[in-house]
Amino acid sequence: MSEYVCDICHCPLTRNEINAVLPSEIVDATSAGFVPSNLPKDFDAMARMLGVELSNSEVWKFTVSNNSDVDWGICRDCLVELKRW
Ligand SMILES: [Zn+2]
Repeated sequence: MSEYVCDICHCPLTRNEINAVLPSEIVDATSAGFVPSNLPKDFDAMARMLGVELSNSEVWKFTVSNNSDVDWGICRDCLVELKRW
């Protein structure tokens, strides 16, 4: 059982596989249009639970703005994608 999951795609990770990312990097990339391509399939379930229809990108922006003061721990795949922005 792994102890960690990627904060973006929720894939299981070991401690050594985690890449710490400053929230400002996520916020800046998202402001520039970054939406992860490998979001979990149930990512928009939270919005549906609240009774609203939101696209993945809208839920993503909401998630980012709610977590803009904490470090993120993400997998290599998500890091590579983030670094393109
Ligand atoms: Zn990931």
